[in-house]
Amino acid sequence: TYIISEPCIDIKDKSCIDVCPVDCIHEFDRMLVIDPEECIDCGACEPECPVEAIFPEDALPDKWQPFVKINYAFPEGA
Ligand code: SF4
Repeated sequence: TYIISEPCIDIKDKSCIDVCPVDCIHEFDRMLVIDPEECIDCGACEPECPVEAIFPEDALPDKWQPFVKINYAFPEGA
């Protein structure tokens, strides 16, 4: 799956939502998150993000590891 991280907070540009073929990106509190159950790893969202908040889970910078849990928590909440 792909993970949305800190740069998205209070930005929520939503360009990623427009390109996601399976509509698995959702608004959640102050940011957007990707539902890992639905994401098909197509990678379309990553280059669309103007603040570079989206990474493949295995390439997520260490400092943003806490965001894995936040994305996986959707829709229950972190
Ligand atoms: Fe949607 Fe593809 Fe991004 Fe997964 S990688 S969130 S399926 S656009």
